[in-house]
Amino acid sequence: MAVNDIGSRIRRRGLMLVLSSPSGAGKSTIARNLLESDKDFELSVSVTTRPRRGSEIDGRHYHFRSKREFESLRDNDELLEWAEVHGNFYATPRAAAEKAMAEGRDMLFDIDWQGAKQLREKMRGDIVSIFILPPSMAELKARLKRRAEDQESVIETRLLNAREEIEHWGEYDFVVINDDLDRAFTEVVAIVTGERLRRDRRPGLFDFVSGLLDEKV
Ligand code: ADP
Ligand code: 5GP
Repeated sequence: MAVNDIGSRIRRRGLMLVLSSPSGAGKSTIARNLLESDKDFELSVSVTTRPRRGSEIDGRHYHFRSKREFESLRDNDELLEWAEVHGNFYATPRAAAEKAMAEGRDMLFDIDWQGAKQLREKMRGDIVSIFILPPSMAELKARLKRRAEDQESVIETRLLNAREEIEHWGEYDFVVINDDLDRAFTEVVAIVTGERLRRDRRPGLFDFVSGLLDEKV
């Protein structure tokens, strides 16, 4: 049996991977690639009051809700964090995240700096946060236009808000510049690999090491 097989069977805590970036820098693309290539990850599907884009599916990309429904979830303490972003409300449902963590699964959060801050305050030891930067503001604008899923006025708001989001880069554990997508993705995978190997995330090591020391050779 390969050494890695033994290592991957050692019991560990799930991690909460937070990806943030200004809109258009590529975090959804990186998140999608990670979810496709790494079946240990589950996406935290947020609740939002923003209108659904043509390519989005309710329940898969977001839970699209009215403002009234959102307020009811918030007032019933069903949200782990929430924030107003670009004039709409966004939030992380509490139940799915708590279930994943209790079962030791890894969860991916595509949330803004306000949400990242709230999660860090609530579950610091479980959070690994990565800030994705664009290579330039000109490229950020070009990507927002190329995505062509938002109206011109929405793109302008997102560009204006990009500066505020970028100012929070220093609060994150890691920073990845998404110039070449393959390279940026490789860097994110490297971060995840390293974080999963942290001793304090692997309670199963105690039994493994006891077994090693008890082994008669
Ligand atoms: P975000 O989730 O950060 O708003 P997206 O993942 O939707 O951003 O990416 C915005 C647009 O930029 C998409 O059309 C995506 O295909 C494109 N994109 C992402 N990464 C790169 C890259 N490294 N080079 C060129 N285009 C990219
Ligand atoms: P978009 O409208 O492009 O899908 O997302 C806009 C912004 O809202 C992005 O920065 C995204 O990360 C953020 N966002 C999405 N879901 C959540 C959430 O549940 N909580 C918070 N705080 N931000 C979110």
